[in-house]
Amino acid sequence: MTETPQAVRAASRARRDEGKVRWAIVGASQIARSWVAKAIQSVPDAELVAVVSRSAQRGRAFADDLGIPVSATSLKSLLAETAIDAVYVSTNNDRHCDDTLEAAAAGLHVLCEKPLGLTLYDAVKMARACDSAGIVLATNHHMRGAATHRAIRDLVQTGQIGRPLAARVMYCEYLPKELQTWRTKDKEQGGVIYDLTVHNVDVLRFVLADEPVEVMSMKASSLIGENGVEDQVQSIVNFASGLIAYMHEGQVFAHHETALEIHGTEGSIYGRGILDEAPSGRVYLRRGTEMTEIPVETANLYATTIAQFDAAVLHGELPAATGWDGVASLATALAVRRSAQEGVRVSVPRFEGNPPVPVA
Ligand code: NDP
Repeated sequence: MTETPQAVRAASRARRDEGKVRWAIVGASQIARSWVAKAIQSVPDAELVAVVSRSAQRGRAFADDLGIPVSATSLKSLLAETAIDAVYVSTNNDRHCDDTLEAAAAGLHVLCEKPLGLTLYDAVKMARACDSAGIVLATNHHMRGAATHRAIRDLVQTGQIGRPLAARVMYCEYLPKELQTWRTKDKEQGGVIYDLTVHNVDVLRFVLADEPVEVMSMKASSLIGENGVEDQVQSIVNFASGLIAYMHEGQVFAHHETALEIHGTEGSIYGRGILDEAPSGRVYLRRGTEMTEIPVETANLYATTIAQFDAAVLHGELPAATGWDGVASLATALAVRRSAQEGVRVSVPRFEGNPPVPVA
């Protein structure tokens, strides 16, 4: 028999007292296989119990390969048999909203992949539903888990570069051939704006603790984008503080190093090779002509994200990126898309309930 949301929450509270979060992955995806399943398995207070896949065969193979005890073809059938506290929604972009709402209705905490939804309406609906259900909704903006990005945020927020005046962020890479599927072909849910712009926006919001207010953008289908799907986009973004940022996202650059720069009244920060799934890259502080490397310890970005999510579930802390952070990154990304489509400057809407970016 399927448990009621109240029963799920009561059982979950009991496990919380034992200091454990029991996870299911929804969607037997490449990113779950490459990074997130192992990250969950590596965090001491997390237990990866199940995977949900629409395909019984793919789900079973995924579970067997990764040592996951249970596979199921729907969340409903999983919950009828197995106690779960949290799900990682790793399905295609067009399923994030429904999968999150289903989990929230069952009383489960949710870590959802980016983009949080395809529309602001969906994303806000997801954030509000999770708030109303009293569950944690987090967005997998995994780059908040990067030690390099945390070091840059600390330099900015402890005043090491004075007042930040400008930023540049370049998430430019070559999308491997095997990933050139829905990302490069599907007009509804593909494109670099949903894929990378949301990350760049979130990185800037995270390190600057500032909010985008207006964008002006251009996009192109330069090499691998089909059916009018963009494979690169460049934007100028005005922030609330008056800072101006340049953002470039592209999946057609086989030789481009990713980069993040913040330029302030007292210094500049250069992050090189630091936008990635793997821990990577270096951080430098430049004053005048003197360049100093900032020592950064490496950490698995996804494990850091999962550990912070568990702390939110178990101890009431904030996840690395909340649901409202996912709403905010999507709001700017959609403004980028509209600006590029219509050739106009576009204001970025703000949403009530959007908490400040945590500093600590
Ligand atoms: P995949 O294309 O690998 O998987 C998406 C979904 O398609 C899966 O959940 C699975 O659903 C189904 N699927 C998987 N393999 C196959 C197959 N061979 N044939 C048919 N269907 C299949 O997606 P990605 O891993 O690239 O992306 C998943 C989500 O994660 C996206 O929202 C993306 O934006 C995000 N992402 C986030 C990253 C990050 O670092 N934060 C990095 C990469 C992606 P089911 O098992 O239910 O059929």
